[in-house]
Amino acid sequence: MLGEELPQIVTNTLPGPRAAAVIARREGAVPAAIRCGYPLVIERGEGAMVADVDGNRFVDWVGGVGVLNLGYSRPEVVAAVREQAGRYFHAMANIITHEGYVALAEALASRAPVAGNRALSFFANSGAEADENAVKLARAFTGRPNIVVFSGAFHGRTLLTMAMTSKKAYARGMGPFPDGVYRADFPYLYRAPAGLEGEAAISWYLGRLHDVFEQASPPEQVAAIVVEPVQGEGGFIPVPLAWITAVRRLCDEHGILLVVDEVQTGYCRTGRFFASEYWAEAGVRPDILTAAKSIAAGLPLSAIVAREEIMAAVPGGVIGGTFGGNALACAAGLAVIEVMERERLADRAVEIGATVTARYREWAERFDVIGDIRGLGAMVGLELVRDRTTKQPHPDLVAALVAECAARGLIIESAGTYGNVIRFLAPLVITDAQLAAGLDILEAALAVHAAQPEPLYATYSR
Ligand code: PLP
Repeated sequence: MLGEELPQIVTNTLPGPRAAAVIARREGAVPAAIRCGYPLVIERGEGAMVADVDGNRFVDWVGGVGVLNLGYSRPEVVAAVREQAGRYFHAMANIITHEGYVALAEALASRAPVAGNRALSFFANSGAEADENAVKLARAFTGRPNIVVFSGAFHGRTLLTMAMTSKKAYARGMGPFPDGVYRADFPYLYRAPAGLEGEAAISWYLGRLHDVFEQASPPEQVAAIVVEPVQGEGGFIPVPLAWITAVRRLCDEHGILLVVDEVQTGYCRTGRFFASEYWAEAGVRPDILTAAKSIAAGLPLSAIVAREEIMAAVPGGVIGGTFGGNALACAAGLAVIEVMERERLADRAVEIGATVTARYREWAERFDVIGDIRGLGAMVGLELVRDRTTKQPHPDLVAALVAECAARGLIIESAGTYGNVIRFLAPLVITDAQLAAGLDILEAALAVHAAQPEPLYATYSR
């Protein structure tokens, strides 16, 4: 079974001949802006493994960028979707009620650690849409126009979420953007101003948030502060608990809603069903939670959860959409929760994260390009630098490692404002042997490239 196998490259070149033919067709049919640098055309996926059209096997540490926490082709999800497909594909929520929509709304409301007594949920199709809807809710509830987001944040590629997303490579030439979006510094402690650590660093970052209130938008004009519990695209940086506790206090003081974007962190990735459960354990609850990615194991679905008073503030007709809460996606969504909880994948995420982090720490003794190792559960970032003292980012090395690993059967991806972080987002059903095989490949790739004055650019030929 593919799901139990280990990576193996059997072609003399990558892409192999069949994959090369599809990639050439892709170049003639798909805009280059839908970027893909990987030499891989999938034939089949199972668990954490991908078989390509030439018979190569890869272990996947990207998992559709956080979509495949439950792995490829999970039989229970396949069965639920098949069963649903045999009855109906779609019933638009505004016209015909379908029970899957209601059951998934209930399941999310009972799991999302949002503030308030009774939560309600509704559905959209993507992470960006969920985040846009969270902003709509916050504006409706508070009657205020502005939102505060952070450096390094990624919230999507729609017009509003391009404005919310920090890295302008995702929005080049796309302005003008909606007004009312203001940015504060995210507590990226590894890159805090020199000499600042611990509490001093946290109060420095809180000061930057106060600066936004002083210099950009007074707090009484702010509807919401939107934050990822662990920044994903921004470089796998967890929010410090002391910082989010202080942010919650500021929100309460000024009547601002706290929105947690759990698009990448949700669904057991960090060792809890939602990462903001760690906040709740420390007494901090968000007002609105958004989820997407792994919610339906690969079918397009996203969710917005908030207490009923917030939901009640939105006038009818302002939220919703044709496909939001599609019946096939909801059936998949219910199966995902059932399997994740039965198999205790949140606990498995903690185990996986500990294995990966321990191995990275060993490497840090050998490879001085390793600047920082951080994360939460199985969301682990490895930040590479040219120099540990200056912390100058080393994106070229990351690019070389991505190519070298692919050539050896491991799919990894970069992240971070400077493109110098390797992200770990492997499916949580990865076997111990596959995890070890992936770590061996990354270690071998580091051994080849880290010692070079400039990385050797790997080609995919062996
Ligand atoms: N929010 C976060 C934290 C994300 O990581 C992403 C996607 O990577 C999004 C929002 C946007 O999601 P989508 O690509 O489904 O619109």
